[in-house]
Amino acid sequence: MSKLFQGTTDSAGPYETRVLSRSWLTEDAFEIRFSRPPGLQFAPGQRLRFIRNEVERDYTPVSSPQDEGIDFLVRSVKGGLFSSVLASAREGDPFQFTGPHGYFRFYPSERPPVFVATGTGVAPFVSMARAGVKDFILLHGVRRSLDLYYDPLLRKAARLYVPCLSTLRDPKEGVPGGFAGRVTGYLANQLASGAYDFYLCGNADMIRDVILLVDQKFLDSLVYTEPFS
Ligand SMILES: Cc1cc2nc3c(=O)[nH]c(=O)nc-3n(C[C@H](O)[C@H](O)[C@H](O)COP(=O)(O)OP(=O)(O)OC[C@H]3O[C@@H](n4cnc5c(N)ncnc54)[C@H](O)[C@@H]3O)c2cc1C
Repeated sequence: MSKLFQGTTDSAGPYETRVLSRSWLTEDAFEIRFSRPPGLQFAPGQRLRFIRNEVERDYTPVSSPQDEGIDFLVRSVKGGLFSSVLASAREGDPFQFTGPHGYFRFYPSERPPVFVATGTGVAPFVSMARAGVKDFILLHGVRRSLDLYYDPLLRKAARLYVPCLSTLRDPKEGVPGGFAGRVTGYLANQLASGAYDFYLCGNADMIRDVILLVDQKFLDSLVYTEPFS
């Protein structure tokens, strides 16, 4: 049976921040940079909580804690209350957030780390890679190769980087080292059995399915989770 590690921390703040810039990566995903409030510290992987008009939403920086600004990768959700505010925010707009929250960060151990993400759930691993974490295995589940926003960075830092393209039928049409299928398919059929430290971030169904797999195939592993939904 794998050990499951979860938890939260007390919040600090609220901190005042401002939008510095925003750039669209695809038609529904963008990176947005905020000024760094004095005194705010976070570990790569931890999340911040935006508060505006009684709406609260968590986002995980993709920047390293050493960077001057704080960058987020945001998927613009159709009809979404808060992601739409971020999608239309302008340079200089004020926001507030609290944090850092959570224990989702990198814990070095003798077991190989396996990072598993879906969609924007890659955010904590981007921050970790930018902060110098390397030699991990990373599976990133996306629908299409366009959504592999951080491919060069992650390819360089990882021991093994496997984009998992769920809508791809022919592996030859994919990206180098890519897998045609879901992250769970890769774990079930490609990753050697053994004990690992699994870090799971993104879709809650993916996290549930991977935990079930870990209990069957990767006994004595440790599992850290950060559901985005
Ligand atoms: C710990 C944590 C970290 C997070 N980090 C990030 C991050 O770095 N980047 C990021 O983009 N998001 C992140 N999220 C998700 C984020 O907090 C919001 O839930 C998301 O942006 C949607 O908020 P909204 O107010 O726009 O939509 P809402 O108004 O809350 O929802 C509108 C509708 O969209 C649906 N919906 C909500 N989210 C999604 C989704 N992802 N896909 C499809 N449908 C959805 C809802 O069920 C609802 O029907 C994180 C969540 C958590 C818990």
